[in-house]
Amino acid sequence: MIRSVNPATGQVVQTFEEWSADTTRETLDGVAAAWEPWSETALSERAAILRKAARILRDNRIELADLMAMEMGKPVTQGRLEIDKSALVCEYYAENAERHLAPEPVEGVGSKAFVSYEPLGTVLAVMPWNFPFWQVFRIAAPTLMAGNAMVLKHASNVPMCAQAIEKVLDQAGLPENVFRTLMIGAGQVENVLAHDSVAGVCLTGSDAAGRSVAAVAGRNLKRSVMELGGSDPFVVLADADLDKAVQVAVCSRCKNTGQACIAAKRFIVMEDVYDEFVARMKDGMTALKMGDPMDPETYLGPMATEVLRAELQHQVDRCMEAGGILVLGGSVPDGPGAFYPPTIITNVSADAAVVQEELFGPVALVFKVGSEQEAVELANATPYGLGGSVWAGDGNKGLELAARIRTGSVFVNALVSSTPELPFGGIKASGYGRELSAWGIREFVNVKTTVVG
Ligand code: NAP
Repeated sequence: MIRSVNPATGQVVQTFEEWSADTTRETLDGVAAAWEPWSETALSERAAILRKAARILRDNRIELADLMAMEMGKPVTQGRLEIDKSALVCEYYAENAERHLAPEPVEGVGSKAFVSYEPLGTVLAVMPWNFPFWQVFRIAAPTLMAGNAMVLKHASNVPMCAQAIEKVLDQAGLPENVFRTLMIGAGQVENVLAHDSVAGVCLTGSDAAGRSVAAVAGRNLKRSVMELGGSDPFVVLADADLDKAVQVAVCSRCKNTGQACIAAKRFIVMEDVYDEFVARMKDGMTALKMGDPMDPETYLGPMATEVLRAELQHQVDRCMEAGGILVLGGSVPDGPGAFYPPTIITNVSADAAVVQEELFGPVALVFKVGSEQEAVELANATPYGLGGSVWAGDGNKGLELAARIRTGSVFVNALVSSTPELPFGGIKASGYGRELSAWGIREFVNVKTTVVG
């Protein structure tokens, strides 16, 4: 059973029967049939559809943000921005796909040689609930522009968002069956990947899910891109602009109720400014309004599910067992809904197993360091490698440290974020492959060599 549950109230909104294996297979057959003609459409035709999808998203930003708030607890103000960003990525690829996919001539081989980027078939997207529109559009826009078809297996707690996405693309004029939402649970992903028409999978989610689905992709010799969890370091040097650093630290750790892969999760602060940083961060996090995600004033909504909240509380308890000192929050509040308060913990032993995990909620771990060397070592002492930031008064020093941090992206004196123009992805347990930019659209294409003798 796939269920939509309002995490602010605990009420079941709607339930869906999971599709049978036969229904899933028939749907994949239909998508495969729709792919052939779609793969031959002109890029301009695909671009027009994506531009229309962007307009539909913007025209419905209020309702779609309300849907996210209801289904996974995202505050509406943040949800509306997510819809705008989803529209932006559609427009980015409508505008740039032709350039990214233009055939490239190669001199000196035969009388003529070139490399072209051609569609592969159906791409399976296995998606998480935390940015239920953005995550899907950031893979759908390049996948469809490249001439592939796509099937979506969305997280089981956001089935109504999944349906809404299919409706947007349908209304935008995408031919029938080129994009389908599959109402299936994780157990059917293996069969979907085994279907002949499915050329690959892009999974965004936990590293546990990534390991499992990447193994299935490998067995079936299908391509895979894995966008997995993170434990981003936020390194603050003694000469950093603390006003800006603290403001971004609070936003990065608490936006989306702390449930973001590129949220700053470990704050690594030089001893000279440590006390001041912690005090200011406490003020900043205390000031955040927690409550009804439908209220435009709310910054922190409920967590997406009560199960996830219980897991986070368990991790907080383990931080305390590992020497942690609670500066703020740290326990489940009374009342309905999966709310969890902004929490700051200092003094946790850097060797503790819990520090190696991803804390997916508004919980900041702050570490004191005595040197830049120690800061870099701690920043890299995690199985993850998604993003990270360095805060430095001296920009060159910031760049020097950034070069030593082993992650898919590092931002100096700026919030770690994703944008259509830049490749996005991780290393180590944060996964492999890239989304967005030219790198993203070339993940699921046939890089084809043609030579004329
Ligand atoms: P999740 O539990 O791993 O689920 C993600 C998706 O994978 C869901 O659709 C889920 O289906 C499916 N799934 C889980 N286990 C599976 C398996 N063994 N076989 C096939 N499918 C499986 O993650 P989540 O709780 O939705 O999302 C939070 C995680 O995503 C965090 O770790 C976060 O850091 C990461 N994330 C990464 C990025 C990035 O770009 N790197 C972006 C956003 C989020 P069900 O819902 O049906 O279980």
